[in-house]
Amino acid sequence: MAMEALIKLLFILVASFFVLNCSSQGGDEDFYLTARQKMVKEDIQKRGIDDPRLLDAMLKVERHLFVPEDYRHLAYEDRPLPIGEGQTISQPYIVALMTYHLHIKPDDRVLEIGTGSGYQAAVLAELAKEVYSIEIIEELAQRAQESLKKLGYSNVWVKCGDGFYGWKEHGPYDAIIVTCAAPKVPKHLIEQLDEGGRMILPLGDDPFYQTLTLLTKKEGRIEKRRVTGVVFVPMTGEIEREKR
Ligand code: SAH
Repeated sequence: MAMEALIKLLFILVASFFVLNCSSQGGDEDFYLTARQKMVKEDIQKRGIDDPRLLDAMLKVERHLFVPEDYRHLAYEDRPLPIGEGQTISQPYIVALMTYHLHIKPDDRVLEIGTGSGYQAAVLAELAKEVYSIEIIEELAQRAQESLKKLGYSNVWVKCGDGFYGWKEHGPYDAIIVTCAAPKVPKHLIEQLDEGGRMILPLGDDPFYQTLTLLTKKEGRIEKRRVTGVVFVPMTGEIEREKR
């Protein structure tokens, strides 16, 4: 009899462990979804970003899956977060703002310089036909590739290399986004921008302030427009060597 009661108790304990475990996982997903909805409404839509395709993409892409576990609870705060190797994932509003100015259409081919976590690439992949992204740090390129693959993105290609040279084989691009700060516009990127194409990048030498700049190629000429002030990690590689 005592044995029977013990078995019953054990059964109840195991069953309640599974129930609690499953519901807490569902709870996490609900927590992240609510936080994401709030982020899109409060930090993006209310600040003037009104493109419905972009808002849908920001609502769909799970930013918490692109940040290290220790920072997941902060994933939907409007701030950059560390992703390792001294680099950061950009603030959600800035991701939305840069993407907004690129006016991505479903047939577009996009080039990104600075894959980082792969989050911006995922947002672009929701909007464009093909996304090519270059990351100079091997470890980050690999990790981003794995995250994007796990989430089922089959229209993003990541390579490790110096984005200064662009990725000529797949160009020209309808849109180019540079997510590290450059002292000047890398000339290869201008060459790889298609007629009518848009490029957005943080321009400037100051590590604490750069100008987010939008370039448009019209009849072979480049039109330049200031968007706002931003702070990005610097572009490394060839562009740094050129400065010396
Ligand atoms: N877009 C990223 C955040 C980028 S942080 C995201 O969504 O998470 C800037 C990234 O640019 C860093 O990962 C840095 O290693 C990378 N980077 C710096 N210089 C580069 C270069 N010359 N070519 C390619 N990537 C570069």
